[in-house]
Amino acid sequence: MESHKRGEKRRKARNPVKNEEIEELDERPGCSTEEVVRGKKGRTKAQKKYIGAHVSIAGGIWKAVEASVDLGGHSFGLFLGSQRSWQRPALDQSAAVKFQQACSQHGFDPAHILPHGSYLMNCGSPKEDIFDKSQDMLVDELSRCSVLGLTQFNFHPGATLGSSKEQCIERIAQAINHAHQQIPAVCTVLENMSGQGSTVGGEFNELKSIIDHVRDKSRVGVCLDTCHAFAAGYDISSAGGVKSVLDEFDQVVGLHFLRAVHLNDSKGKLGCHLDRHEDIGRGQIGIAAFRNIVNEPRLDNIPLILETPGRPGFEYAEQIELLYSLCED
Ligand SMILES: [Zn+2]
Ligand SMILES: [Zn+2]
Repeated sequence: MESHKRGEKRRKARNPVKNEEIEELDERPGCSTEEVVRGKKGRTKAQKKYIGAHVSIAGGIWKAVEASVDLGGHSFGLFLGSQRSWQRPALDQSAAVKFQQACSQHGFDPAHILPHGSYLMNCGSPKEDIFDKSQDMLVDELSRCSVLGLTQFNFHPGATLGSSKEQCIERIAQAINHAHQQIPAVCTVLENMSGQGSTVGGEFNELKSIIDHVRDKSRVGVCLDTCHAFAAGYDISSAGGVKSVLDEFDQVVGLHFLRAVHLNDSKGKLGCHLDRHEDIGRGQIGIAAFRNIVNEPRLDNIPLILETPGRPGFEYAEQIELLYSLCED
């Protein structure tokens, strides 16, 4: 979690738009038809690979769409409100309309836009007040998705904070079932974790256990974060590693639940359990794994979203360009 926050701050420091002292409202990517040419640099999207980045919503949520276009992205991640407050002002209707118009204008399909949940939420918390607030926030997040015409929502499952893993998993599923009752249609997408602290969802079988407790299986999925998976001990960096980890995911959870991938290299080593994102090819995972990822047919047609630090000279646009250059189709 922390590394995400730090990443946001670093990006803000470099980006005049994101520099503004505000909540991280973000953008979303869109989907498109095959072989769309988009972006200032006129990149051509490799067929069926929807690579993009987590973008800021500073200045208005529709700005996220424009930011994605500028990056040459074909998908995007975004926050739907402040990361600092439990109480957030409702989304402005006119902003939501602008957002949907921008998505439509630039050919972004909701299937390729994956909002990221607030870091304040812990739907697995043993503390009743925190659980209640988290559950309410999950409903609010799904409601924002509905207003924006979005169909899926990604969040960190939760942390035990000393309670049992089984109880934590049941609480997370309870919050999801409650949110599904309150808000129709939007799919809740669980992100795999690095296993840092008392977080759950580092092991694929923990994600599977949460899904098992969710009543409407059509409205639950998984976003696989490459840094988190590697840090949790899934070796995607070895020869054949991407394929074997996806095989394992398929056996334990089921590939039909896979809704998205977060593309991050890892500062930490295999199994370190640290959530420390690194720029693509600059970390312990290495570029060969990302070549395999962008050429993996099982990852076709889902958003592949960068959440890397983006150092000067190797920011999102350059990393997106690099990843598309590795595509062999
Ligand atoms: Zn995340
Ligand atoms: Zn992530």
